[in-house]
Amino acid sequence: MTDRVFNFSAGPAMLPDDVLKDVQSELLDWNNSGMSVMEVSHRSKEFISVAETSEADLREILNIPDDFKVLFLQGGATGQFSSVPLNISRPEDTADYIITGNWGKKAFKEAKNLLNAVAVSDESGSNFTTLPNTNDIKFSNNPAYIHITPNETVYGVEFDTIPKINHIAPVVADLSSTILSRPINFDDVDLLYAGAQKNIGPAGITIVIIRENLLNKARIGTPEILNYTTMSESDSMYNTPPTLAWYIAAKVFQWIKNSGGVEEMYRRSSEKSKNLYEFIDNSNFYNAPVEISARSKMNVVFTLKNNDLDAEFIKLAEKNGLTNLKGHRSIGGMRASIYNAMSIEGVNALVNFMKLFEKEHN
Ligand SMILES: *Cc1c(COP(=O)(O)O)cnc(C)c1O
Repeated sequence: MTDRVFNFSAGPAMLPDDVLKDVQSELLDWNNSGMSVMEVSHRSKEFISVAETSEADLREILNIPDDFKVLFLQGGATGQFSSVPLNISRPEDTADYIITGNWGKKAFKEAKNLLNAVAVSDESGSNFTTLPNTNDIKFSNNPAYIHITPNETVYGVEFDTIPKINHIAPVVADLSSTILSRPINFDDVDLLYAGAQKNIGPAGITIVIIRENLLNKARIGTPEILNYTTMSESDSMYNTPPTLAWYIAAKVFQWIKNSGGVEEMYRRSSEKSKNLYEFIDNSNFYNAPVEISARSKMNVVFTLKNNDLDAEFIKLAEKNGLTNLKGHRSIGGMRASIYNAMSIEGVNALVNFMKLFEKEHN
């Protein structure tokens, strides 16, 4: 087996070694069934137990209140860009979008096909290196909901907590790249969703956590697999769920539980991101463009002051077992995504590599 690298991919991202080894050990014979988990009915007693345990664990680690439903869906976070308006608004409604990066922009664009979506705040003027003060935002009169992206994966900007919007309207949050990295205050959010491939498990499963009072509002004609009520009433098994992805996500929830929960994940993320940002800020060779108070603990964006060295940096990093540091194609530079599975050792290895690279190329 080749050595595992430190993989800084933004998504699909690295998974904990312990989880992968566990999956490997069970691959041919799961639960003494003589079959893999991929080969059994999703309606079997064994698989239903995976589904139930995963929900119970997720509820425990995120402390999800009883009046929220947890759904395990497909279609990625992108699917939710249209599922949200289909499920909780009418075509004549208004919904407010707080745009702090390209994912929020995409969600807004798609919502415009389905209702009167309004960009009440847009940080594109700073090239998405800042966050708004949500107290200063002028919301629409009676919006159906307010949409926010607490962590913008491409630009590396993150609200430290989901802003308090004071119950003007239901708050919908795309938590794809920050879920499970910190506690969530469910007083401040009514519907949240996340694709799995950043901090939950493999691509293919999408988690929606929705306050019960938002169910039973889907538009007529909403496809059943996008309909939160249909999916909730069928325990996310209206059709065949992505069983392998679900089973691996369940193992990640257990891993988080056994590692000290989301409070510990937050402590580690704080330490990892601090090590990296502090090093960058103390260097004249690297630069972190995002305003300090807006910096993401999950996606650390940085540049080399001389971008002629970018290709060499990436090449040498890879040689040293540090992969996928290239920034998003839309902004260039570098991005180190440091989700829960990235160890402190991985981040320290990156910092040491950056020091050495600076010394040799300054
Ligand atoms: C990755 C990402 C998405 C897109 O997720 P898909 O599962 O590919 O649809 C949406 N929003 C955010 C914040 C993301 O990080």
